[in-house]
Amino acid sequence: MIKVDHITKTFNGFTAVNDASLEIEKGEIVCLIGPSGSGKSTLIRCINGLEHPETGKVYIDGEELDPKSGNFAQIRRKMGFVFQHFNLFPNMTVLENLTLAPVKVLGKSQQEAEDVAMKYLQVVGLVEKKDEYPNKLSGGQKQRVAIARALCLEPEMMLFDEPTSALDPEMVLDVLNVMKELANEGMTMIVVTHEMGFAKTVANRVVFLEDGKIVEDTDAKTFYENPESDRAKDFLSKVM
Ligand code: ADP
Ligand code: MG
Repeated sequence: MIKVDHITKTFNGFTAVNDASLEIEKGEIVCLIGPSGSGKSTLIRCINGLEHPETGKVYIDGEELDPKSGNFAQIRRKMGFVFQHFNLFPNMTVLENLTLAPVKVLGKSQQEAEDVAMKYLQVVGLVEKKDEYPNKLSGGQKQRVAIARALCLEPEMMLFDEPTSALDPEMVLDVLNVMKELANEGMTMIVVTHEMGFAKTVANRVVFLEDGKIVEDTDAKTFYENPESDRAKDFLSKVM
């Protein structure tokens, strides 16, 4: 479903992602893990088309993700993206945040978009917040709205970039539980996270990055219990 083929991305001569390759099948849950600055965000943003690698290619469902091609926007629409800092529109209510793109981008009627929005607000447990503005919500609630907003575009896969790392600890579980539910329903997911509990119990695979390179790509149990590389061992000894 997702194929990353030898991509390299540099910023002003600094290599953020270095010759990374990765294949993700439909229904897989893959956690991207690694030290700060190791290129996790850059990699997931390249997969989503928010950054463009200089060399290598990204394929989604067999189609090349190429900003110069006519189907770029259409391919990107298959992927929902959830940011660390939510990125909700502050001047819109929760419901307006959820219906904007479905109306503007998918051409749904307002009523249709609202019906879908209510369905996903139910999924994330925030129906009663539909008329609130984002600044009235807690961080955990904002993130659940952001997840619902991404789901309203009915993506085939969901990408998360540290969705819980800006949250107070007591809100982390609410967000992880929503993500777990999505995983149980068979959503294909890539999750940049430091939440080891989530990675251990939900992920099929862990991809470990260091200095822009994928140094380990293995099942979660092996990664946590018996990592191959010294770099992963060293990382785990610091975080566990
Ligand atoms: P991670 O998400 O693992 O912390 P990032 O992908 O954000 O790592 O960053 C990898 C490296 O690339 C870091 O050294 C970072 O400073 C650099 N980098 C990321 N984005 C940019 C950018 N837009 N401009 C310049 N450097 C960047
Ligand atoms: Mg990051």
